[in-house]
Amino acid sequence: MTQEFSTRNKVAVSFSRAKDDMVNLYDHVKFLYQQIALLQKECDRLRFMVGHTKAPADKILVASARGKRVHVSTCPFMKNVKRSSRVVFVSLDQANLKGYKNCSCVKG
Ligand SMILES: [Zn+2]
Repeated sequence: MTQEFSTRNKVAVSFSRAKDDMVNLYDHVKFLYQQIALLQKECDRLRFMVGHTKAPADKILVASARGKRVHVSTCPFMKNVKRSSRVVFVSLDQANLKGYKNCSCVKG
């Protein structure tokens, strides 16, 4: 009887450990997905800076270095701004932190 209880207990502990491992693993996978998303954004940004416009241009946040507003790169206001005097941002937060206000072309 005691032997059986002990075995059951061991099995229960093993399952509990396996469950913890799964939860842990899930957290790691979630973290990796977040990193992939960030890298994808950074990749889009760099492509845009280099001049490849294959990246979804309406999602790239950009401003004139001397301007006060952040735009999506397809905004008419950005048409006359030279590529060399453009500032590209990874996120709206980054642009806002640097003092740029949102143009109406930027949602949110
Ligand atoms: Zn705009």
